[in-house]
Amino acid sequence: MTRTDELRDVPGGRRRTVLISGASIAGPALAFWLNRYGFAVTVVEKAGALRDGGYPIDVRGTALDVVRRMGILPRLRDAHIDLRRLTFLDEGGAEVASLAPHAVTGGVAGADLEVRRGALADALHSAVRDDVEFLFGDSIGTLDQHRHGVDVTFHRGGSRTFDLVVGADGLHSHTRGLVFGAEERFHRYLGYCFAGFTLPNTFGLVRETTMWNAPGRAAVLYAVGDEDDVHGFLTFARPQPPLHAFRNPEAQRGLVEGVFADAEWEVPGMMAAMRTADDLFFDVVSQIRMPRWADGRVALVGDAAYAPSFLTGQGSSLALVGAYMLAGSLAAERDHTAAFAAYERDSRAFVTLNQDLVGTGDALLFPTTARALEERNALLRGLAATPPAVEGRPAHAALALPEFTPTAALSSDRTGV
Ligand SMILES: Cc1cc2nc3c(=O)[nH]c(=O)nc-3n(C[C@H](O)[C@H](O)[C@H](O)COP(=O)(O)OP(=O)(O)OC[C@H]3O[C@@H](n4cnc5c(N)ncnc54)[C@H](O)[C@@H]3O)c2cc1C
Repeated sequence: MTRTDELRDVPGGRRRTVLISGASIAGPALAFWLNRYGFAVTVVEKAGALRDGGYPIDVRGTALDVVRRMGILPRLRDAHIDLRRLTFLDEGGAEVASLAPHAVTGGVAGADLEVRRGALADALHSAVRDDVEFLFGDSIGTLDQHRHGVDVTFHRGGSRTFDLVVGADGLHSHTRGLVFGAEERFHRYLGYCFAGFTLPNTFGLVRETTMWNAPGRAAVLYAVGDEDDVHGFLTFARPQPPLHAFRNPEAQRGLVEGVFADAEWEVPGMMAAMRTADDLFFDVVSQIRMPRWADGRVALVGDAAYAPSFLTGQGSSLALVGAYMLAGSLAAERDHTAAFAAYERDSRAFVTLNQDLVGTGDALLFPTTARALEERNALLRGLAATPPAVEGRPAHAALALPEFTPTAALSSDRTGV
């Protein structure tokens, strides 16, 4: 019997089909592993093409083992940004402390990766694009689950039936909305809002981050390389989410300008750049916490299921590890209900530990009161005088990746791990 024959666990003897919504981090990683295990995979992505560039994200701890097993670690090492320093400024723009970034993030210098989100997405996509069907510029219209599969219609027209559907479509997941209900039910607001945009690097910054803090407000300039542009972030505390500003760029700009109206340092220039930026990205800082990650034949992975927020720096790592665990569970368990249960059982503790790295309004980077800011600054000065840690935060590596043994349906040479 061939490997493909062995995958015939559905009537009609064909490979099990999986539709994944979203082609950023979790989606292509899941596609890679499912394809390895012999599933027929389709990925639908609403953007017209893979998005390159973007802000830097981290790959740490257990997630490093995932990318190593995928064979893309060397490529990601080449894309590593190797940020040199993180400098904190006070309200008047004077230096508080200048540190190695890992001293603050809890990462491990020399081991952890920091790459542009687009570089990671591209490495994942390149590893699987020849074996998997990608549908760019489209998205799921409707999902209708029944005993034998999921009937899917697409926004650009047409309908198909898949054995399983997985939402890897991010914090504001469309798939989650269709199957599990409104985002508010799962949304945990962490007490901050932020605006991100790019602006000309007139600051002479090279591979470094500078952060200005006042109580409840922060302005960040992040230079990924020695390029012409830097990433700017304006973050501020807000006890309640500003619902009026959602989907209204003018209201978002107005809100940020009001909050930072009297701010010093480079903030006035940043606000001027924000006004004309064509890539302004505004959102509340929040997590997704769900009691379960699957419903019938539909499951969620990555930010869609358990976004930890950028305050943890663990979103991409959870997406990579979650994709590995979900694909392995589906390969090891013939029954999708049992597979989804195994995925949750074996991943949830790791996810929760990483989500718990931050609470509401208590982010180390964004103290909300003058006293908390003073205490934070004292801590930073102490860290600056401390040798770098050789081990990262325990939560980052709290899951040892299992070696999945595919069911009799799959031969071990196919897994390649
Ligand atoms: C400003 C910022 C800074 C961050 N910094 C860090 C950091 O330092 N470290 C870190 O680890 N993480 C960071 N993150 C978080 C990190 O980007 C996410 O956790 C990670 O990208 C999650 O991957 P994902 O694939 O689950 O979702 P996403 O990366 O959000 O991807 C979702 C994909 O689904 C697509 N999509 C959305 N809706 C649909 C639809 N209806 N149909 C089809 N496709 C759809 C989107 O276009 C996108 O391609 C940051 C996030 C932000 C916003």
